[in-house]
Amino acid sequence: MVIPEKALAPLFEQAHEINVKLLADGDDDPYPLILLEADKSSLEFLGQVLIAVARDDEHCGFQFGPHHAGSAHFSRQSQFGLYLHRLPCTHEMGPDDADQ
Ligand SMILES: [Zn+2]
Repeated sequence: MVIPEKALAPLFEQAHEINVKLLADGDDDPYPLILLEADKSSLEFLGQVLIAVARDDEHCGFQFGPHHAGSAHFSRQSQFGLYLHRLPCTHEMGPDDADQ
């Protein structure tokens, strides 16, 4: 996966505190929610990242996470990173192949 450095580099200069967590009412909850929690600045950052990925002409995906590149933007409590994938896909690999 190639990071769209040009569009996102200025956004990544400041660290953020995004928390991505599973909200489930017990292990058997059939309708769990994903919590995206952050302060105003970090939510605005996330919105800008979404727009940058939507407008990126070269890449259809972008990932960052607490244990991946971009870890400075996640809180220590974050259970998940994010894989943003714009459709239609412009390469052969999909989100399931992100680690390859
Ligand atoms: Zn793709």
